[in-house]
Amino acid sequence: MLQFVETGRGMPGKRGAEDRRRDFDEIYRGYAREKAEEQAGRCSQCGVPYCQSHCPLHNNIPDWLMLTAEGRLREAYELSQATNTFPEICGRICPQDRLCEGNCVIEQSGHGTVTIGAIEKYITDMAHDEGWIVPPSPARERPEHVAIIGAGPGGLACATIAAERGHEVDLYEASSEIGGQFNMAKKIPGKEEFYETIRYFKKQIELHHVNLLLGKRVTAEELISQKYDEVIIATGVRPREIDLPGINHPKVLSYIDVLRHEKPVGNSVAVIGAGGIGFDVSEFLVHQGISPSLKVDVFMEEWGIDQDYDNRGGLTTPEPEPPAREVFLLQRRSGKPGAGLGKTTGWIHRSSLRMKDVKMLSNCSYEKIDDEGLHLTVGGAYQVLPVDNVVICAGQLPLKELEQPLLDSGVKVHLIGGAAEARELDAKRAIEQAARLAAGL
Ligand SMILES: Cc1cc2nc3c(=O)[nH]c(=O)nc-3n(C[C@H](O)[C@H](O)[C@H](O)COP(=O)(O)OP(=O)(O)OC[C@H]3O[C@@H](n4cnc5c(N)ncnc54)[C@H](O)[C@@H]3O)c2cc1C
Ligand code: SF4
Repeated sequence: MLQFVETGRGMPGKRGAEDRRRDFDEIYRGYAREKAEEQAGRCSQCGVPYCQSHCPLHNNIPDWLMLTAEGRLREAYELSQATNTFPEICGRICPQDRLCEGNCVIEQSGHGTVTIGAIEKYITDMAHDEGWIVPPSPARERPEHVAIIGAGPGGLACATIAAERGHEVDLYEASSEIGGQFNMAKKIPGKEEFYETIRYFKKQIELHHVNLLLGKRVTAEELISQKYDEVIIATGVRPREIDLPGINHPKVLSYIDVLRHEKPVGNSVAVIGAGGIGFDVSEFLVHQGISPSLKVDVFMEEWGIDQDYDNRGGLTTPEPEPPAREVFLLQRRSGKPGAGLGKTTGWIHRSSLRMKDVKMLSNCSYEKIDDEGLHLTVGGAYQVLPVDNVVICAGQLPLKELEQPLLDSGVKVHLIGGAAEARELDAKRAIEQAARLAAGL
């Protein structure tokens, strides 16, 4: 240790710019083993380690640096993950320059910080490669038998955390696959990462021995007869129906018809409801072929990014693929469509749809749907949109019909995710609620 006097700060090499601009992969390569050990050996093992006190997780950084420097990499990994569920991610994307590394004592004394993030990435990648990662096992098995109904994000998080804590868990899912609404979300261009979330939970279910019952739409009577200690209803939502003359016309589809059942959609479409799902459905309908977020060249062309740096600011004229069909995105409310979308991403969704010539109309009052199309007034002016299909994305309601009969039979019941509250629902809320509940069972 204390090698900082002789050995300078050394990050792993960067990939060349020519390679980096062709893909979305990492900028930095990983360390070779000797280099990681050498860099860890620069640490001065401070008595008051500012790296640790400025880490939001208070990771025991000096100790795992010492273990790394001594070549005890498995122990280093075990210590680093003891206070952190995803060191492979923190090692890459934490703002270390403002946290551990920014406050490292040898950085403050002008010697250049210990490269904590890069070393954390190295030991965690090594743990993945060497198979050192083992699922946490419960301190003791618990006697309670728990049923969780619905394998959407809420049910999945609740099941895996409850099982990790030692409960015996039965997870019922009506459809033939886990994921719930994520199975629709993953089809939206730009949201392909939800495939990975589902893959993650699939693995967690195996690791924690959750008893998964797919294709089983469980009834209240079945649950009562099983005498579960706790029943967690994570059955999600059902689409809100709207009352409109012609709502049963064959050209009317729900977002579930479009995304889950992939029913054919014509060349012109009106989407009723400009919330998050209305925006996503419109995005889905205007794209065709490979999603731009999976293909670097298509993405760069679509957003006008000049990969040859010939133009000022590295920008050029966007050349989006023409829209796959004409889409009207409609809302009853006045004001800008998409105003309620997330602050950090709403502008992207709006720009993306504008790029595909989606017509966004506010102040709509719907009159009827017939062979001619959708009859409506926009700001009081009557018009007919001669569309082939009308897709309803008019919000969601909790799906919780299991609750009352279970309560009536004295079963201990909890509601999480969309089943508890459908308004402003997102997966983060469903998962957080699930995790807190599972931790307290
Ligand atoms: C197109 C689209 C895009 C989205 N994009 C995002 C996004 O970018 N970010 C985000 O955070 N959220 C997004 N969401 C919302 C997110 O998917 C939901 O908030 C989340 O799925 C809710 O989780 P949940 O566990 O409450 O219920 P759900 O995901 O609805 O899952 C409920 C599950 O319960 C099952 N079930 C119902 N009744 C029974 C029964 N009796 N027996 C057995 N199983 C039953 C259902 O089959 C279903 O699988 C999106 C949703 C959609 C539709
Ligand atoms: S502050 Fe820097 S030198 Fe001190 S223990 Fe942490 S990493 Fe090592």
